[in-house]
Amino acid sequence: MAQIELRDVSLRYFTIKEETEALRDINLTIEEGEFISIVGPSGCGKSTLLSLISGVMQPTEGEVHLFGETLNKTSDRTGYMLQNDHLFEWRSVLKNLLVGAEIRGMDLKEAEARALELLNRYGMGEFAHHSPKQLSGGMRQRVALIRTLVIQPEILLLDEPFSALDYQTRLTLSDEISTILREQKKTVILVTHDISEAIAMADRVIVMSKRPSTVKKDYNITFNGGRPSPFETRQRPEYNAYFSEIWKELEEHVHA
Ligand code: ADP
Ligand code: MG
Repeated sequence: MAQIELRDVSLRYFTIKEETEALRDINLTIEEGEFISIVGPSGCGKSTLLSLISGVMQPTEGEVHLFGETLNKTSDRTGYMLQNDHLFEWRSVLKNLLVGAEIRGMDLKEAEARALELLNRYGMGEFAHHSPKQLSGGMRQRVALIRTLVIQPEILLLDEPFSALDYQTRLTLSDEISTILREQKKTVILVTHDISEAIAMADRVIVMSKRPSTVKKDYNITFNGGRPSPFETRQRPEYNAYFSEIWKELEEHVHA
């Protein structure tokens, strides 16, 4: 049984003035533990797709299945991380890490122990009682990720989590975060507009077409002799081959 399955999913937005067809006939199957990236032209419906998988929105047509069941509300088994870290400035880092656990009514003592352990493991233990204001952009995103991990989701949805960061930070952080997520054995869906990040981090890259968007290509990303770290990936010959193929797929939209 696939962990996530979208069957003939379409999504139209209705406003007083117009109807926008964002997604059309999406079929997608994701297995437990897969790390997939989604790329596609701006405005094609990538965030919409994540919202459907998170259960905050329902498809206009078709069905989303999670763990073999039709999804009709948000699931506690899914964590969602956005581009903006949404940290509360008046709360310490540790208190920020407990927000999700509070909302879900989880045992806060246990959640705090997990939060501290994750902070320590990922080199941020000394910042537990700092204010988010004292952290760099990259550190804030790391806190946002840890906050998502504290609720122990099996599926992580990441919507352009690095796009507000400078290039150097993005490289370092994408490396670290993919290491963390592989170590935690989560199923990950990463939306990014950065082809190189998509290839470097994921085992599978899904290319979406322009609106009304559908799955255009689905690449399995493999490397000779096993998967290197994201940083090393970028020096491999396979990386260049994937890059130019995906680039061409996306280019067609620009000239279409
Ligand atoms: P992406 O994340 O790929 O940039 P989105 O999923 O955010 O794209 O949006 C897909 C399309 O749906 C866009 O044309 C966007 O303007 C439209 N859209 C997104 N959210 C809404 C909404 N709440 N109401 C109406 N249209 C929307
Ligand atoms: Mg988006």
